[in-house]
Amino acid sequence: MTLESPALDNFTRDLLDRLYARRTDARPAAEMLEAVKALKQKADQSPLLGPMIELFHELISLHDEQGLSPDQLGLVRDDLLALAGRHADIDEHGVSIGGRAHRALSIVRGAAPRIAEYLDRHALEAPSGIEIWEEVLDNQARIKRALNISDQEWDSYDGQLRHAVESVDTLARVLELRREAQEDVRRATRSCRMRLTPYYASLIRPGQVNDPVLLQCVPTGEMVDNTGIEVPPVASDHSPARLIDQFIPRVLAVKVTNMCAMYCTHCLRIAHIGTRDRVYPRQAYNEALDYIRSHPSVRDLLITGGDAFALPNSMLRWLLEEIDRIDHVRVKRLGTRVPVTTPQRIDAELLDILEASNERKPLRVVTQINTAQEITPVSRAGFYAMSRRVVAVMNQAVLLKGVNDSRTRMWKLCETVQDAYVRPYYLFNCSHRNPQFKHLRVPVHVGQDLVESMYGNLSGDLIPRYIALADGKVPLHRCNIQDRTETELTFVKPWDGARISYQDADPEEYARQDFAFAAYGRQGQSKGERE
Ligand SMILES: *Cc1c(COP(=O)(O)O)cnc(C)c1O
Ligand code: SF4
Repeated sequence: MTLESPALDNFTRDLLDRLYARRTDARPAAEMLEAVKALKQKADQSPLLGPMIELFHELISLHDEQGLSPDQLGLVRDDLLALAGRHADIDEHGVSIGGRAHRALSIVRGAAPRIAEYLDRHALEAPSGIEIWEEVLDNQARIKRALNISDQEWDSYDGQLRHAVESVDTLARVLELRREAQEDVRRATRSCRMRLTPYYASLIRPGQVNDPVLLQCVPTGEMVDNTGIEVPPVASDHSPARLIDQFIPRVLAVKVTNMCAMYCTHCLRIAHIGTRDRVYPRQAYNEALDYIRSHPSVRDLLITGGDAFALPNSMLRWLLEEIDRIDHVRVKRLGTRVPVTTPQRIDAELLDILEASNERKPLRVVTQINTAQEITPVSRAGFYAMSRRVVAVMNQAVLLKGVNDSRTRMWKLCETVQDAYVRPYYLFNCSHRNPQFKHLRVPVHVGQDLVESMYGNLSGDLIPRYIALADGKVPLHRCNIQDRTETELTFVKPWDGARISYQDADPEEYARQDFAFAAYGRQGQSKGERE
């Protein structure tokens, strides 16, 4: 075997041994011999490695699947050794044909089944708003007719807000709901605020009973029927000064408004949102700014609400200018869900304001997208435009039952977020603070499985950090869980080592499929149903 040069590494020797281990005396058909001969000729004549790799792949499958060795196919060991030598001469990374065809190929093929189910199912089970855009356009046309909205109004933020759906009667004009569902929504909206823009309503798919967009914006009976003790905001927020929340020494949140273009059924700030829009006096902002000015350790400001983009441009510009004047504030964030609920808000003036502030000091936009269905060509264009003007656009998703609590839905969410120029940042566990949305909670072990399922299967750039809000943000890594019962977890606050207990979702309640609109039978929300 004079050709067995040192260039032929163990992988190649192993591959040849594997191929020449004859397992059957079957005689290959004439066409098969012809096909192998043609592949061999191509491999010999081509200056590229592709045809050679193709030949070896074919030899491996003919061997492994049909028990045929290369000599039965007309190729003696020396023929393959010659090719292997050429491969070694050509490949600039020093990868041998054995390493490539024998090892790398089987690793790649072995990994494929891990994502096969996702690839099969995501378009059906978790379509993005981009994938169902035609359907959304039909919904838009229907809603425009039902609420008498002009194209011009539809395309403006003010028009969207003017036509926002705030009562069950308006809702019933854009979405066909069973009578029981309507009654319950009416009951719930007596104490829980409902507002969705017609654009956001157009993302709801008629015919999907617990549609993931519908679940997030229309309050159901549970929101008043759930039992439990509400932790008051005085105890759960950390407000040392007017409009300010602070628990991280160098990071501080300013709640600049209580308004949102859409009110989420899972809103943690439900108490702060209250029942009506409020315009804050200038004095309130000045007090908050004074607090920031007098605390030089604060370097990162989170401007939130409600929704930062619910403020008019003039107000945002003023606030950012004032903040940028404070030397010790080095970076800023704007917290907003408006780019997904009402992307019409992202106008040229807003983009200029963002860019001007970002030029002074880094500015990020932090949004909340919970399902791929919330990302449409319109919101994606808005994120793209913002991504060119600020340093980063990041997503803080909330883990919600029926919205993103399956592998397919979570993976699709994170991939679609990344497609839309946004980086997954946090995945919040849905809080136990408010019994109102207890029915949407997901057990922590489910969240852990979901986040861990992404490692090694998807790009690390799209894996969010899974955390709970418990006097600060606590990582929900498995190793941080000290103790676990059916409904209670004990974990450690990393910053002071204190052990705290945290109420987990009730597993029985989580297992129930007849929640929210599904409680009214299969027709909770259904196309073509007339009441
Ligand atoms: C979430 C939050 C922050 C920001 O936390 P990061 O970990 O920096 O993203 C700051 N202040 C308050 C009150 C918060 O709730
Ligand atoms: S956008 Fe944020 S603050 Fe507004 S309702 Fe939703 S979760 Fe609450």
